[in-house]
Amino acid sequence: MDRAKRTRAVVWLILTLAAGCARSSYEGPYGDADEPAIEAAEEAPRREVAPAPPTRQAGDVLPQVIYHGTRAQRWVALTFDDGPDDLYTPRMLDVLARLRVQATFFVTGQHARRYPTVTQRIVDEGHELGNHGYNHADLTRLPLAQMRWQLEQTDEILERFAGRPPRVFRPPYGARNSQLIKLTSQMGLRVVMWSVDSQDWRGKSGQAILDNELTNVASGSIILRHSAGGPGEDLSGSVASLPALITNLRQRGYTFVTLSRLLGLED
Ligand SMILES: [Zn+2]
Repeated sequence: MDRAKRTRAVVWLILTLAAGCARSSYEGPYGDADEPAIEAAEEAPRREVAPAPPTRQAGDVLPQVIYHGTRAQRWVALTFDDGPDDLYTPRMLDVLARLRVQATFFVTGQHARRYPTVTQRIVDEGHELGNHGYNHADLTRLPLAQMRWQLEQTDEILERFAGRPPRVFRPPYGARNSQLIKLTSQMGLRVVMWSVDSQDWRGKSGQAILDNELTNVASGSIILRHSAGGPGEDLSGSVASLPALITNLRQRGYTFVTLSRLLGLED
């Protein structure tokens, strides 16, 4: 092999290896290359950031990190992060009860403890509780012992309300690393991201939130909304657009299910 050929061969090998490394090892069949486009962030988001594009792999084992559910059923899961609170969460629960929709609430241990009545209401009205860490810290920046404490403490608090520990976990800010994936796996928690980002926490109008969601939704979609705002954040557009989202998707033949139902995690 002459020098030029050998150089080309080495470059090709490096590129091939790099492509292989870029592919996540824990994303499985529910990660899709044909995922709907997620609206680009206009500024550095304070909350969850868009998940990395997942890669489809062969096999039918549910992966440890999940972006959407089965595409075979016309099901969608509504998920609400960062609650509960005593302002927006009750209003969202009112809408869900009126329209008989079951959803999943990724709550922090701290907020569950601060708003026990609302947390119990979430459970009593048939919704699922998911672990969202204790105080919304970026868990990837914590030492293992603190990471574990955040997860276990929140599991314990949520079990007191639901009668069983949560099955699903969503990392604050969507931030995850191999240590967090390993720990959640050991704890029996599935890491559930999302495939449709409403960006409702940016104070958008109800119509803008709805347009974004309706453009991107597909069978098996996991829709990310929020049921509590940070300081000064306004989720009234999110509340206002919730009935229209539900009605519109039902007209298109979708059924709303909890994450455990969507992912087949029920006992
Ligand atoms: Zn969050």
